[in-house]
Amino acid sequence: MSEEQLSFQAETSRLLEIVAHSLYSNRDVFLRELVSNASDACDKLRYLALTDPTLAGDTPYAVTITPDKAARTLTIADTGIGMNRDELVENLGTIARSGTAAFLSQMEKQAEGGGTSLIGQFGVGFYSAFMVADRVEVRSRKAGEAGGWSWSSDGKGRFTIAESADAPERGTVITLHIKEDAAEYLEPARIREIVRTHSDHIALPIRLVDGGKEEQINAASALWTRPKAEVTAEQYKEFYHHVGRAFDDPWLTIHGRAEGMLEYSSLLFVPSTRPFDLFHPERQVQVKLYVRRVFVTDSCAELLPSWLRFVRGMVDSEDLPLNISREMLQTNPVLRRIRQGLVKRILGELARKATDAPEEYATFWGNFGAVVKEGLYEDAEHRDALLGLARFRSTAGDGLVSLAEYAGRMRPGQEAIYTIHGDDAGQLARSPQIEGFRAKGVEVLLLTDPIDEFWTGAVGRHDGKPFRSVTRGGADLAKIEAPEGAEKPEPKGDRPIDGLLSLFKVALGDAVKDVRASERLTDSPVCLVADDGDMDMHLERMLRAARQ
Ligand code: ADP
Ligand code: MG
Repeated sequence: MSEEQLSFQAETSRLLEIVAHSLYSNRDVFLRELVSNASDACDKLRYLALTDPTLAGDTPYAVTITPDKAARTLTIADTGIGMNRDELVENLGTIARSGTAAFLSQMEKQAEGGGTSLIGQFGVGFYSAFMVADRVEVRSRKAGEAGGWSWSSDGKGRFTIAESADAPERGTVITLHIKEDAAEYLEPARIREIVRTHSDHIALPIRLVDGGKEEQINAASALWTRPKAEVTAEQYKEFYHHVGRAFDDPWLTIHGRAEGMLEYSSLLFVPSTRPFDLFHPERQVQVKLYVRRVFVTDSCAELLPSWLRFVRGMVDSEDLPLNISREMLQTNPVLRRIRQGLVKRILGELARKATDAPEEYATFWGNFGAVVKEGLYEDAEHRDALLGLARFRSTAGDGLVSLAEYAGRMRPGQEAIYTIHGDDAGQLARSPQIEGFRAKGVEVLLLTDPIDEFWTGAVGRHDGKPFRSVTRGGADLAKIEAPEGAEKPEPKGDRPIDGLLSLFKVALGDAVKDVRASERLTDSPVCLVADDGDMDMHLERMLRAARQ
């Protein structure tokens, strides 16, 4: 039978190189990755078989693990959807994930420095098989298709693909030729232990073939249907890795069950680290949708607003029809109500963390605040709650402050919440534009995320107080009382400075609109400001940069 030789996509080769050369801190996870893929494959077929039962036939959904010491092979077989030729090439030869290229260069830089901790965050999925195997063979038959295919590689740049006479009847069989130093993975006891630790949340039966006998080695019940008290933190974490394709620890785990008008379970996670593709244009909400335990879709964008796109997890609805099409999801009123419930719950949990664990919350805000603030701009309904959750750098100190804290420190006569926009908080804190505010003891928020330009304009005011950029003219410093003991600005007298101002105006010509004496400066001789009606200076700079 004819065999084709193909090369891995350049990025895949680089990733495989890293996998082979980094001593992965925990090689056990290869089995979790392969079982996770097998479970996904069964989920996908189960969904398709709802509309076309002939696809699934009578074979039950299961994963079977067979170690063979004599042959030094470990085989992981599933009865899922399978892959045809093109899918084998596409799925096992390329990495489709967004942000991969950026991740790899970061990885390589870190590896030069001798560290490889990043890889644990990325997760290498199928390729993790090459941590324990020097050759991997995949035989697969796509449900509903006649021919089977085989794929084989030693993970060194190339793979072969051929038609296969001994492909399974349905699904995928992955055979790992176990490396010399990985013989432990041929021990049934070791496999049992790994599955119990890393894959117990899988809802599908996982069987181990030990001495010719088959036994089920997992609980095989959907984790989210189990009572909270019976789920350990470790199990939640493993489930998060599986459902979220994430590899850090969850910072927040929100497991809930809604009953009454609408019935659904949800298991949502806020990551502890910022994913690489958070600001990638293709990044979508990654919450899976199930209907009565049956998987429907991987990323149901209708379940959460995009300003919560860092949240991962799943929702299982009792109310949706099982055969709901992806198109129908977009307009479904049940989903809209579930989304309202989830947003409320997440905001509630975040508020609780902000009060109970402010330091942890500050880390969360550092990771995801810039995304949450998109909600201030887009989502008027949750604006007040989000303003309560927002944290800022300010001239008051190094930590983060809330708007409530800011309000508590406002000076008598101060009417606005003063902000300054730029790229770097340290630089902003030293900027001449805020000298006068400092002198009067007025706190200024240092805003450094691009989105800040937009939401401050859209929100306008909070608690009756307008947000006002200090770089605009006419900041009403005169009305604000200085704290006791502060130096008073010298009386202006008959403004002998007017002559100097005229000289400046002539010299600068069209480059400036006006030259004025200012109360906002105490140490610096001059600063640039925008006029009240004009665009904020930082925004103007950003737009100019974007146009180039
Ligand atoms: P991920 O699971 O995050 O997509 P992987 O590297 O684990 O990344 O797998 C890549 C792709 O290969 C999967 O998305 C899937 O399309 C396909 N795949 C892997 N294993 C199987 C399997 N057992 N059955 C069907 N498809 C599979
Ligand atoms: Mg996977």
